[in-house]
Amino acid sequence: MKPINKARIIIIGSGFAGIAAAVRLKQAGENDFIILERGEDVGGVWRDNRYPGCACDVESHLYSLSFAPNPNWSHKFSSQPEIYAYLQDCAKKFDLISHVRFRHEVKRMEWNEDTCEWYVATSQGDFNAQMVVGAFGALSNPAIPKLKGLDTFAGEAFHSSNWPKNFEPKGKRIAVIGTGASAIQFIPALQPEVDYMTVFQRTPAWVVGRPDQKISPTKQKLYSKFPLLQKATRLGIYIRRELLGIAFRNPKYMKIVAKAALSNMYRSIKDPVLREKLTPDYIIGCKRILQSNVYYPAMAAPNVNVVTSEVVEVTEDSIIAADGTEAKVDSIIFGTGFQITDIPFARYIFGKNGQRLADVWAGSPKAYLGTTVSGFPNLFIMQGPNTGLGHTSVIYMIEAQIKQMMGVLKHMQKNQLDIIEPSMDAQKGFVENTEKSMKGTVWTSGGCKSWYLDHTGRNSTLWPGSTYSFRRLASRVITGNYVGDQASAKMKYLLNNQSGSPDR
Ligand code: NAP
Repeated sequence: MKPINKARIIIIGSGFAGIAAAVRLKQAGENDFIILERGEDVGGVWRDNRYPGCACDVESHLYSLSFAPNPNWSHKFSSQPEIYAYLQDCAKKFDLISHVRFRHEVKRMEWNEDTCEWYVATSQGDFNAQMVVGAFGALSNPAIPKLKGLDTFAGEAFHSSNWPKNFEPKGKRIAVIGTGASAIQFIPALQPEVDYMTVFQRTPAWVVGRPDQKISPTKQKLYSKFPLLQKATRLGIYIRRELLGIAFRNPKYMKIVAKAALSNMYRSIKDPVLREKLTPDYIIGCKRILQSNVYYPAMAAPNVNVVTSEVVEVTEDSIIAADGTEAKVDSIIFGTGFQITDIPFARYIFGKNGQRLADVWAGSPKAYLGTTVSGFPNLFIMQGPNTGLGHTSVIYMIEAQIKQMMGVLKHMQKNQLDIIEPSMDAQKGFVENTEKSMKGTVWTSGGCKSWYLDHTGRNSTLWPGSTYSFRRLASRVITGNYVGDQASAKMKYLLNNQSGSPDR
């Protein structure tokens, strides 16, 4: 029997991408895989983000795995506990739990050219694997601004993705920094509870209404009895969202969406000064369009103040903005987003010739089909560069990436290849075509500074085309775009016989 710290395939992370990759591997008859998970449970961001009001802004019938439909979603747009429970159910249903090593945080990964394997060091020991699927999650490492004096603050200060279990907002004076997708969900949930809330807004967001609805038990029964009906519902949502995608690529059409957002605001915000503060000056869609029916009413409440000047300092009991505004606060909540283009995992991955992924990317990530990187063999990155979306479900993209991965594994098996990576030409070609399609989209010409853009100004985060076009590209393995090799006889011997901790 192989020792526990060796597997043919290691999957890092057990969120949507890790679970989907594991299921597809199993369905293809591959059982020699381990899932390394730094947390105590599966679920990824849907396990970690427990802030009040946390929900998904894509309809659940689409924001779910195609091969694991859930007829029992209680609402059109599900909340975090329901999505988390869905992922837990999937892990059980597809018998994945025995593959997961919980509380194993990956600290370092090195490609070993002698054995043609990845060496993966974790917080609980070392592993070897021929292939690695990096399902680390694109939004899993919080970004907290380095504010002068933050370490002197006497109250609680935390990021929305690390919400303390026992946090009691009742009667407190709260400061919220940021008005992005997470903040617009927890601000309305906290506002009725708190004594006073000061919201520090750097850039106003465009917020449209969220047409949520309860799904009746009758409908749930129908979905259960007639799976085709649920499939049709999923397809309908998919098509509607793809049509919205066309507008993102032709910003002139975004005016209709902007009108809907402004009327959503005007319905609740009557004060002209507050309206002015909350009205964005960039084209809608340039930053993620947010959805809420309750955000603006909360921002108009008498116990909420919106400060538009940048936070410059924190004292023992207050926050000070650049215009001199000082707010006395008991707690600070950072809704300041995640590290996206300076991706933490890239700092600990070392590929061929010891090159570090973070150095190769230099803050501007590039990959072939957003999935594989030249110089980093046998590594598949889920939700990699240019696979993000502004308008629909990222699960669709993840499943397309997995399709490509499974095709590559098949190609390796058929041709008895042990090592594979994309050719540099193929990677460059993909990146160039993506950049060409990005021109003229609302993300590059919308007049905003968004986290989609990296420090070079390149949009290395989003896929600019239709998701169907990505799916078509990813469904076919163009073998000429990959460089494959066989391990030498000596390497093969090592691959088959190496056991225990790697000798290093
Ligand atoms: P976010 O959308 O990136 O928003 C971060 C907010 O913090 C922005 O308002 C940003 O202002 C502000 N900010 C950042 N650094 C700051 C600083 N130093 N000083 C003051 N303000 C600062 O982050 P998020 O709300 O956590 O959401 C991240 C992503 O998670 C979303 O875009 C979305 O993809 C995902 N998400 C999805 C859902 C869902 O329903 N599916 C829900 C929540 C989150 P600027 O705009 O000026 O940068």
